[in-house]
Amino acid sequence: MIPNELIEKVLKEIDPDKLIDLTSDLVKINSVWDPAAGTSEQKAAEYVLNWARQQGFEVQMDEVAPSRPNVIIALSFAPGERTLMFEGHTDVVTPGDTSAWKYDPFGAQIVGRRMYGRGTNDTKGNLAAMLIAMAALKKSGVNLAGKITGGVLCDEEDQMLGVKDFIERGHADEITAAIICEPEDGLICITQKGAIRACFTISGKMSHGAMPLSGLNTAPAVARIIHALHDLELEAVRMLGRDEFLGWPSFTPTVIQAPASGAPQLNVMPGEARLLVDIRTIPGQSHPKMINDLNLITAEIQKQICNHYEEYDKQLDVKRNHDLRIGLEILTDRPYTLTDRTDPIVEATCWATHKLTQKEPVYAGVPGATDGTFLWALKNIPIVTMGAGDREVPHQKDEWVDLDQLIETAKIYAVSAVHYLNPNKEN
Ligand SMILES: [Zn+2]
Repeated sequence: MIPNELIEKVLKEIDPDKLIDLTSDLVKINSVWDPAAGTSEQKAAEYVLNWARQQGFEVQMDEVAPSRPNVIIALSFAPGERTLMFEGHTDVVTPGDTSAWKYDPFGAQIVGRRMYGRGTNDTKGNLAAMLIAMAALKKSGVNLAGKITGGVLCDEEDQMLGVKDFIERGHADEITAAIICEPEDGLICITQKGAIRACFTISGKMSHGAMPLSGLNTAPAVARIIHALHDLELEAVRMLGRDEFLGWPSFTPTVIQAPASGAPQLNVMPGEARLLVDIRTIPGQSHPKMINDLNLITAEIQKQICNHYEEYDKQLDVKRNHDLRIGLEILTDRPYTLTDRTDPIVEATCWATHKLTQKEPVYAGVPGATDGTFLWALKNIPIVTMGAGDREVPHQKDEWVDLDQLIETAKIYAVSAVHYLNPNKEN
């Protein structure tokens, strides 16, 4: 049992106005990674660095790439076995056409109980909430055991360089659980889809559309690859069924290009085609096996098509080289994640959610990847993804966050830490 006085002591230190101001200050700093426009995570990171120093935290800044730093904030309690990480990213996606916005994307305008602007939802509001939660835990002087690491990371929206650097430098070595602060509308997300993205390049021979037999068309190979991908999807669907939180596994050909580059022309049979596939995985699928399957269909279809042309050319009494080639490149291999419901971090976040909202916690899954994917995959760290903000709103125009939900989130973060690092609890 965690005494109520302990919880109250921490919650008393959470000042909603300070949370709103911190969110607003962060949103007003344009932190889109756009070298041409001269914007990056640098200024937002510097702001957090100074803010954390003012709160008396031990802080460190690591340069991940030029103008792209991570900020690492440390908070230690009595010696203990656990280190909890709060993770939030400083980068935001582009606002796109700003004239399509009703509100200034970097204005942090408040209307009613909503704040508008790029990053209010994904994820500067939640970043501010985790920082305010850490500051409240520090100021309250509560007696906990272990440590908290605040990872304020760059480049979550693109290559996830920030979390990879964080891991490479050894910052994750002692972390025993992480809360990934992202807009999940108060849900406790314990699983995330994985992704394999691949590019097939089919090389035949270009020719005049009126004389296709003087070339080697790539189109039949493209058709067979699409068909084979669909068969793989059907097999996965039959084998695994629908995941409770993530839905169905999928093999989606997204880009089909012939010619692979340059302008298409109706009377020109292209010599090269390119097909991109976006595969999303759910727990139970083996990525090495799937990559092996993709290699097998590549070799098999190449053989089938060459045989097909050989047979066909015999019928037509045509002589040509049947040297059609199919190449396969794996562009992304990112595993799914699944944290057990009995894991102490899941219990802590559920307990805190129930304590603050009086509602039964709802489990869910994240359709995309987050920085947590790499903490889970490379360091075996159990993760829970949670935070304020409608799940449909990220990356849209007129992005917003509900301020009351944000305040509640800061409290849930703080109480989750109290539960997870409580020295008197047997777990
Ligand atoms: Zn995000």
